[in-house]
Order: sequence, then C-alpha cells, then structure tokens
Amino acid sequence: MAAPLPPSRPRIPGSGLAKGLAVTLRTMTKKSVTAQYPDTQPDLAPRTRGVIGLFEENCTVCMLCARECPDWCIYIDSHKETVPAATPGGRERSRNVLDRFAIDFSLCMYCGICIEVCPFDALFWSPEFEYAETDIRELTHERDKLREWMWTVPAPPALDPGAEEPKEIAAARKTAEKLAAAQAEPTEPTEPQGGES
Ligand code: SF4
Ligand code: SF4
Repeated sequence: MAAPLPPSRPRIPGSGLAKGLAVTLRTMTKKSVTAQYPDTQPDLAPRTRGVIGLFEENCTVCMLCARECPDWCIYIDSHKETVPAATPGGRERSRNVLDRFAIDFSLCMYCGICIEVCPFDALFWSPEFEYAETDIRELTHERDKLREWMWTVPAPPALDPGAEEPKEIAAARKTAEKLAAAQAEPTEPTEPQGGES
C-alpha cells in the first residue's frame, strides 16, 4: 500500500498572482540587454565581416576568386579587347574587360577565401551588414553594389615605424618625381627653321 502524501500547506488566496507580479516588476526594473535594432545600431568591431566590396579598377579578371570559392557563388563575365601598340612597330596587346561581377550572398559562407586569394587586392571585407532582402534572388549583388560597398571598407592600419614603403606608393612617388624633374628642366630654344636670305 502506497504511503500517504504529506499534508499540503494551506494556500493564501492571490499569492500566485503576487509572485508573478513581483517577477514582472523585477524584470521591468532590470537594465535591458536586448539591442533595439534598427533603432539602435549594434556596436560592431570595425573589421567585422559584413559584406564583400569590389575595387574593380584592380580586378584583372584572372578568375582565381571564382575558381577558389567553395560555394561557387561568384559570377564573372568578361570579354577580350585589343590594345593598340604603345610604340610604332610594337605589338598589339589583348586585355580582359570585366562585364559582370556578382556574388550570391544567399550561398556565401563568409569564409574570405576569395579575398585571400585575389592577387591584385580587388576584394575587401566591409563591415556593412544591412542588405537583407525579402526575396532570396535579390541577394545576388552585382558589381555596382559591390563597388558602392568599397567606400565602407575601413582604411588599412598604419604601417609600423620603420616599415618598408609599400611598392605601389614607391612606384607612384618615383613617377611623380620623374614628372616633376621633366617639368623643371629648362626647354632648349628652338633653332629658327630655313637658311638666311
Ligand atoms: S567569402 Fe567564401 S563563400 Fe563567400 S564568395 Fe568568398 S570564397 Fe565564396
Ligand atoms: S581574384 Fe581578384 S583580380 Fe582575379 S577575378 Fe577575382 S577579384 Fe578579379
């Protein structure tokens, strides 16, 4: 035979309600930990992986990013153009011209491989994250949008004191110095054409 249950304490009418109200009151007076986005912007780290920006001037359409992307979510189209010879008798060159560069952010897993492998520094992380769409097909963003995001990419950190000058800056400085030297050179007076009469 089962043991008899211990006698229950007499219930005070309304005690459950009072307990519930006490919990509500305690929660109401506590500091909220929920960020009220979008009224309050989240405090993100400056180098957050939000979205990928394209600096298309640097892109040579080498296709490395598209080939290395594990999700195959980078779409690139291009055509070849012939560049005339720079000097008389020189050879014509052909170069790739970018027609389309798009990333499908519904597939992208933000691994950053495309950014790492780009040999020409054409892809960058931007902390921008507000690009939600109601239609999944609209998450494929084209080059104009990727270009726009470039302006939200934080500037690179300052170099260490005594670090070597970056090669792009050194090349640009040398060209500027050559140009300035050429402009500063006095121009030789031109000989009058034709003989004396
Ligand atoms: S971050 Fe990764 S998944 Fe996304 S586009 Fe680049 S390589 Fe592909
Ligand atoms: S790896 Fe860089 S340069 Fe090559 S296609 Fe991709 S973005 Fe352009």
